[in-house]
Amino acid sequence: MSKMLVMGLDIGSASSKCIIMGDGQNIVAQSVVPSGTGTSGPGRAVDSALGSAGVGIDAMSYIIATGYGRNTYAPANDTVSELSCHAKGAAWILPGVRTVIDIGGQDAKALSLGETGTLSNFVMNDKCAAGTGRFLDVMARVLELDVGDLARLDEEAESAAQISSTCAVFAESEVISKLAGNTPIPELVAGIHKSAAARAAGLIKRVGVAAPLLMTGGVANNAGVVRALESSLAVGIATSPYSQSAGAIGAALFALERIIG
Ligand code: ADP
Repeated sequence: MSKMLVMGLDIGSASSKCIIMGDGQNIVAQSVVPSGTGTSGPGRAVDSALGSAGVGIDAMSYIIATGYGRNTYAPANDTVSELSCHAKGAAWILPGVRTVIDIGGQDAKALSLGETGTLSNFVMNDKCAAGTGRFLDVMARVLELDVGDLARLDEEAESAAQISSTCAVFAESEVISKLAGNTPIPELVAGIHKSAAARAAGLIKRVGVAAPLLMTGGVANNAGVVRALESSLAVGIATSPYSQSAGAIGAALFALERIIG
């Protein structure tokens, strides 16, 4: 057991991620709750991680909150921006990573990291739902699917349906009309993934495609989007079971630095 424990809490728009880290930068406990800021999600994520670690909140030497709702968790000792936390968490997940694509619930970001893992450039889409987790959530609902089923259906597709609208609202109408026209669901799913990947590829090209690349954020759990992005950029993209928790890992690493320098 680590002598000292810190917590990183990432309060997103769609989910809450909590990491308890020991003084050796080792993960002691983690939780992901699919409810974000303004809900009971952050509190439940904290309780779940503390429960797995078998400790109370007073065992935390330092707590840093990040993410869209970072100012809403009163017990946090401090907050750090999402971008800084994502860059730091990504470099912990994949040492040497140079490009990070983070697709979360309501935005998508491409980050460029220098050789030492520090953030050197970024671009972000937070103005439009297209290519975000929200776009995939809405499309899954139209198809009466769970987002967790999308990757499996994508694998069954023989080709990808053409989704030409760049606006999420129009793309939704397009999917409904193709569904009514009997386009097979796997082809629609593959088309939706291709459309989301095209948006992400545009962001990555703006910061530059330097290998190795890592995908973070909840959409990294969707292997269909990862594959579509790899084929759009013609480059391999790493993911990790910790991809969705990259921001929380970065927050925990910043918390450790505050304590041990
Ligand atoms: P935020 O940080 O904005 O709260 P996340 O990075 O947690 O968002 O990403 C949330 C998005 O991730 C959801 O909108 C959903 O589309 C996607 N997602 C989460 N879990 C899965 C899963 N198991 N399979 C596919 N997609 C997922």
